[in-house]
Amino acid sequence: MLLANYHVHSDYCDGKNTLEEMVKAGIAAGLISMGLSSHFPLPFANDWTMKEENVEAYLNDINDLKTRYASQIELYCGMEIDFFIDRQDISDLAKVVRPQLDYTIMSIHAMGITTGDAVSYIDESPQDFEKGLKKYYRGDTRKFIKDYYQSIEIMAKTFEPEILGHIDLIKKYNQNNCFFDENEDWYQETVCVCLDGIAETSTRMEINTGANMRTPGVGRYPSDWMIPEMKKRNIPITVGGDSHSVEGIVYEYNQAEKYLAECGYREYWVLKKGRWEAQPLGV
Ligand SMILES: [Zn+2]
Ligand SMILES: [Zn+2]
Repeated sequence: MLLANYHVHSDYCDGKNTLEEMVKAGIAAGLISMGLSSHFPLPFANDWTMKEENVEAYLNDINDLKTRYASQIELYCGMEIDFFIDRQDISDLAKVVRPQLDYTIMSIHAMGITTGDAVSYIDESPQDFEKGLKKYYRGDTRKFIKDYYQSIEIMAKTFEPEILGHIDLIKKYNQNNCFFDENEDWYQETVCVCLDGIAETSTRMEINTGANMRTPGVGRYPSDWMIPEMKKRNIPITVGGDSHSVEGIVYEYNQAEKYLAECGYREYWVLKKGRWEAQPLGV
């Protein structure tokens, strides 16, 4: 059984439950180590991340929960921080707050220009994704995908986040290959170049099990074919539910653990007593 979850949202951002409800769900599911990782505030208007003025309360609330639940679960304070393709950077505020966190998940959600408030997203809706492709890439999906994976690699090399979030989020609305075909050579080669780069860093890649819960049919991030490629490169992994509600706390964990073992993974990384340690897979 997988014993950790480092990708947990709450009502500080777009999650449905409070931090405490998520912690209780983690304990009930038998987790021994759990990281809370609300979406970090963005430098433009949006309705899905934490507000800048709430950062301090978030840090304090998690500190309080750590103490109150210390005998039942190890809790860690994280955030999911956005890297921006157009800036090739994270926000200034993220750089200030990051040292106060126990760990960071870094992800890309936005596409195109992020200096105004009219931002397009990879994961908001198929319409918004298509609009972004047309607006910023003249509909050249391949160009976008290459930019995206190159940016993921630069993000890993520049910031070495403790966890790289959902590497192939761009497939979220690609059911029936309506935007691209990930079986094509150019796609898999693009991903493999990115994995080569990640393997040179200390960053762990997240096995994100929550995708099907929010968008049925997506599968998992990363796609099944990528896991053996990651293993070949000895890229360390963590597990995360990308849980936005108590129901998602260990969503599809058993299936993920079984598949990781089939691909030759023998361990995943967990925070124990404040340090990252390899934990054997229990299958
Ligand atoms: Zn995310
Ligand atoms: Zn998330």
